[in-house]
Amino acid sequence: MSDLNTLTIAEARDNLRAKEITSAELTEACLSAIEGAGTLNAFVHNTPEIAREQAKAADARIAKGDAPSMCGIPLGIKDLFCTKGVPSQAGSAILEGFKPEYESTVSHNLFDAGSVMLGKLNMDEFAMGSSNETSVYGNAVNPWRRGNDDAALTPGGSSGGSASAVAADLCLAATGTDTGGSIRQPAAFTGITGIKPTYGRCSRWGIVAFASSLDQAGPMTKSVRDAAIMLQTMCGHDPKDSTSAELAVPDFEAALTGDIKGKKIGIPKEYRMDGMPDEIETLWQQGTEMMRDAGAEIVDISLPHTKYALPAYYVIAPAEASSNLARYDGVRYGHRATLAAGDGITEMYEKTRAEGFGHEVQRRVMVGTYVLSAGFYDAYYNRARRVRTLIKRDFENVFADGIDAILTPATPSAAFGLGEMSEADPVAMYLNDVFTVTVNLAGLPGISVPAGLDKQGLPLGLQLIGRPWDEGDLLNCAYSLERAAGFVEKPGKWW
Ligand code: GLN
Repeated sequence: MSDLNTLTIAEARDNLRAKEITSAELTEACLSAIEGAGTLNAFVHNTPEIAREQAKAADARIAKGDAPSMCGIPLGIKDLFCTKGVPSQAGSAILEGFKPEYESTVSHNLFDAGSVMLGKLNMDEFAMGSSNETSVYGNAVNPWRRGNDDAALTPGGSSGGSASAVAADLCLAATGTDTGGSIRQPAAFTGITGIKPTYGRCSRWGIVAFASSLDQAGPMTKSVRDAAIMLQTMCGHDPKDSTSAELAVPDFEAALTGDIKGKKIGIPKEYRMDGMPDEIETLWQQGTEMMRDAGAEIVDISLPHTKYALPAYYVIAPAEASSNLARYDGVRYGHRATLAAGDGITEMYEKTRAEGFGHEVQRRVMVGTYVLSAGFYDAYYNRARRVRTLIKRDFENVFADGIDAILTPATPSAAFGLGEMSEADPVAMYLNDVFTVTVNLAGLPGISVPAGLDKQGLPLGLQLIGRPWDEGDLLNCAYSLERAAGFVEKPGKWW
């Protein structure tokens, strides 16, 4: 069998169990794909020795016949996850040289099930960004290009390395994290699937914190079935994270019947934004028709506080980030600035943080500190928290009216060119999250499914938002949409 790296998790699992392939072969196929894809800059630390060892152990387990679905599956791990003994820098200079003494719960769950780690994946610094351009490693590159134009495009962010690696078949799947859209937006930009589960479904323990009340891990995969399989292994209650839910994890793959007859799918009018490209609007309408044809009832709904989501997010997320990032002081982790004679501890903090944090991170720390300051706390932070409650209530109201899932575009555009968005206008970049941040603010599960190509041949995604803790039902709706959309395109190999 050739091109083993192009398999989905489900295909690889079935082939492994049928003894048609080995994890060692799968792993070698991925390692050589990674070697040939340096220009994508998706992997920032390769771990071939660990991968080969894990693959060997997985093959032994498969031979004994007790292998879980993720056993022997080669994965990439976002650099935000602490991986024991392996550099984990969150895309930042300030964590240079940091090798955790522990394994994040999510990556532990995957390795415990026999998954194979190929290496760490590029990302925006501390997961702040939508284009992967804030990474200390330089940006990852989208394997997709516009028509005959060879301009390099962003894979999206912050999980840009994960998206690029999965879309280019460098691994079978990857972990991502999503605070305001960082799984769903890069998935949409690269023609893959990404789900952010309900807040509390995956443990945050050992994942470098950005905004703790919003951060969630999730899988980035080549199909909805793969997302179901991988999420199953990633999530579950963890006593080490007090916000991790003490709920049983249902069998997500078993929920994929493809039958959505009688489901009520809500179409929120507030997501029809001024200036939204026609192609996004058309795709959204096509997605609506596909769900109607599959037997769902389409219902127009209103989520009236949607327009306040982005401003509220850009108060709450920086506020939490400024507090979380206070720990990078040159004492406990990674980088410490060289000090001049007479410098004291204050100079050490200041110089270390000035050298170690990039511009976007510094901007967020300053915004966060400002909105939390005594004089402005009520005006900004508390007001944003109240807005958050209203946004959450909007969703609760439509779910109480019987809506099963909400269909929206995943992003307001297709992938844009690297360097196309000016650093001088951060708000233009923030607008990328306009359809995704509401979901984080409300703690709901959301999935991006590739649904078509734009005129330039770039993938576009649709988002489905589900009821809390009902990822099974959400994945099934996404599965139905995936089958109807029949998106099978792959980027032409140029790298
Ligand atoms: N792009 C958003 C931000 O910069 C979301 C990032 C994320 O989800 N980690 O904050």
